[in-house]
Amino acid sequence: MSTTQSYQVVIVGGGAGGLELAAKLGRQFGRQHIFLVDKDSDHIWKPSLHEVAAGTLDIHREGLSYFMLARDCGFTFIQGEMTGIDREQRSITLAPVLGPDHEEVFPERSLSYGTLVMAVGSKSNFFSTPGTHEHALALDSTHQAERFRLKLLNELISVTRRAQREPGAPLYIN
Ligand SMILES: Cc1cc2nc3c(=O)[nH]c(=O)nc-3n(C[C@H](O)[C@H](O)[C@H](O)COP(=O)(O)OP(=O)(O)OC[C@H]3O[C@@H](n4cnc5c(N)ncnc54)[C@H](O)[C@@H]3O)c2cc1C
Repeated sequence: MSTTQSYQVVIVGGGAGGLELAAKLGRQFGRQHIFLVDKDSDHIWKPSLHEVAAGTLDIHREGLSYFMLARDCGFTFIQGEMTGIDREQRSITLAPVLGPDHEEVFPERSLSYGTLVMAVGSKSNFFSTPGTHEHALALDSTHQAERFRLKLLNELISVTRRAQREPGAPLYIN
């Protein structure tokens, strides 16, 4: 790839695969050519999600800002969930990014590409096993891992409170 042309490589998904690719290409070709898109603003190493679920890893400390990584590694980061692709026009559509009070941080946008890399990862497959959708807890995202952690903590509190109501129960929680 010539760095004098405005050729754009767009990588969708800043996980284990996409982030490494963006960093390697960014260092070689620079931020005007290499674009990383992710729906989240921070990267969390997915193989550590079980630690988030167990409460031994704090996502607020471990997450790495994509904007910071982009500055350090020479690519451009664009936050937004990819919601559409126009292969004839060679462009993708990104949904608006909303803040905590649903205020618009970034509007809906489209982004042109010369080469598009889809690195959006995968999700748990329950293989239509009855009851899994209602009862199983997947660990595909930080949101799910954090939900697992809170549910586990609340379960422990409930069990402890039930045990305390029994005569002679030795357990205490403050
Ligand atoms: C608990 C756990 C433990 C694991 N342990 C290991 C291990 O020990 N060793 C090992 O080799 N592997 C392990 N894995 C598997 C490993 O994490 C995955 O194979 C790897 O993360 C896949 O990388 P990826 O880049 O394909 O996708 P991911 O890392 O899942 O990244 C996908 C990215 O795409 C983004 N994205 C998704 N959809 C969109 C969209 N529409 N628009 C914009 N962005 C989007 C997501 O936000 C995410 O950042 C583990 C996985 C889990 C869940």
